[in-house]
Amino acid sequence: MVRMAGVDKHFGDLHVLRDIDLEVARGEVVVVLGPSGSGKSTLCRAINRLEPIDGGTIEIDGVPLPAEGRELAKLRSDVGMVFQQFNLFAHMTILDNVTLAPTRVRGVPKGEAQERARALLDRVGIGDQSGKYPAQLSGGQQQRVAIARALAMEPKVMLFDEPTSALDPEMVGEVIDVMGGLAKDGMTMVVVTHEMGFARRAAHRVVFMADGEIVEDTTPDSFFSRPATERARDFLGKIL
Ligand code: ATP
Ligand code: MG
Repeated sequence: MVRMAGVDKHFGDLHVLRDIDLEVARGEVVVVLGPSGSGKSTLCRAINRLEPIDGGTIEIDGVPLPAEGRELAKLRSDVGMVFQQFNLFAHMTILDNVTLAPTRVRGVPKGEAQERARALLDRVGIGDQSGKYPAQLSGGQQQRVAIARALAMEPKVMLFDEPTSALDPEMVGEVIDVMGGLAKDGMTMVVVTHEMGFARRAAHRVVFMADGEIVEDTTPDSFFSRPATERARDFLGKIL
C-alpha cells in the first residue's frame, strides 16, 4: 500500500531521512518510534507529499510520487492524516467539518455526505455532538472529529502523527480506542505515538528511527523484549 525505497531528505545541511526503505502492506499497522528529531514527522509528511523528498521513490497503492495536479490531489485524498493539533475549522459545526472535503473535493452530494458523516461520528463515539462547534468539545472529542473527518475521504491509508500528545491524560484512552478499532477493522495505518500500550496491542510492526535512519523494523514483541541495537535499548530505557 505504501512503498518507500531509498528515500532521502535534507533540510539544508541536516540529513533528516537517510535511505529509508519502508513497505506497509494493506491492512498493516506500523508504529513508528524514535527520539525527538529522528525524522518521524518528516517521514509521515513525505508519504502524502506535504514534504518533497530529495531522492528515492514513494508509491501509494502502486502510484508513484511525485504526482502533480489532479493526480496529486487524488493521491492526497487516499492518505488520511491526523496530527497532534486537530486543525478543525472553528467557525464550522462538527458535521460541516466532516462533510467539507467530500462535498468540495469529491463532489459527493450534501445529503449523502451528511449521512456518511453521521455514521462516522457514531463510529468514533460522538454522534450526538454533530451540531456543536469545535470549541464546545473536549480535546479528545475534537481529535475524534479529526479522525472522522479524515475517514470521510475513504482513505486507503491513515497516518497519525502523535495524535494524543496534545491531550489531557484522561482523554488519551478514548482516542487510542478509536484507533484500535480502526486497526481491528483492517485499516492500513502508520502511527507515530508515545503510547506503548497501543504499539504492543495494535501494531503488526514497530519501526524504530534514529538520526533519520530506520534502525529496527520488527514485531512489537521482539522490539520491546529484545531490542537489537544499543540506540533502541537506550530509547526504551528512557521511556518505559
Ligand atoms: P519529534 O518527536 O520531536 O516530533 P520527529 O522525529 O518528528 O521529532 P522531525 O520533525 O521529522 O522529527 O524532524 C527531524 C529533524 O528535521 C529535526 O532535527 C528537525 O529540527 C528538522 N526539521 C523538521 N522540519 C524542518 C524544517 N521545515 N526546516 C528545517 N528543519 C526541520
Ligand atoms: Mg514529530
